[in-house]
Amino acid sequence: MNLEQKIIKLSEYINQARNIVFFGGAGVSTESGIPDFRSVDGLYNQEYDYPPEVILSASFFKNKTAEFFKFYKNKMIAKDVKPNAAHFALAKLEQQKKLRAVITQNIDGLHQMAGSQNVLELHGSVHRNFCMVCRKPHGIEIILESEIPKCACGGIVKPDVVLYEEHLNNEMLVQATNYISKADVLIIGGTSLRVYPAASLIYDYAGDKLVLINNSETTFDERVNLLIRTSIGSALGKCVL
Ligand code: ZN
Repeated sequence: MNLEQKIIKLSEYINQARNIVFFGGAGVSTESGIPDFRSVDGLYNQEYDYPPEVILSASFFKNKTAEFFKFYKNKMIAKDVKPNAAHFALAKLEQQKKLRAVITQNIDGLHQMAGSQNVLELHGSVHRNFCMVCRKPHGIEIILESEIPKCACGGIVKPDVVLYEEHLNNEMLVQATNYISKADVLIIGGTSLRVYPAASLIYDYAGDKLVLINNSETTFDERVNLLIRTSIGSALGKCVL
């Protein structure tokens, strides 16, 4: 099948579907101009005193809080970014009652900004922050405005983002597994599937319409029913009307 035929096939899947689940990685956000953590041009190849996976760890947060926030504010909070065609197409599929859930590894909140309601943010969100002492929730502004964000009670405000050395929210993983196991179409986009839990979650899918939309090769290319090597925005944009 050439690309055009594959897009037609995806349209057929989507037209017949009643229970689509989308699982997305960094590639969904790179189309909005947010750098991919693990890609060649991504954060991991930029120069800092410490590698990002060290800075973005729970122990670094605890021991070098100001440095953590400096990096976090510069690199993890993308300012003035907007949802792209992929986000909007997925929001539309949800409105059309075809899509049940978006499961994402991204923390930028762009799916919600595009209008999606049911979004499982496996790695948290930069838009949610909480006081480590009194647990009061805080918006993103307090993070942007201060060197070390502090709550009125004096406690440090911590982003609700899963850091290295921290566990994913187990309840959310169970939910994600549930959605995926019941999906009639599972669309995976913008992830190399190398990072836990992405690779393990796709084994929960029991159907025969597993779609992978990715710009580069993955180790799962052979296992999927429909492999589309293009941008997610362009693929979904053509299929969702
Ligand atoms: Zn507090």
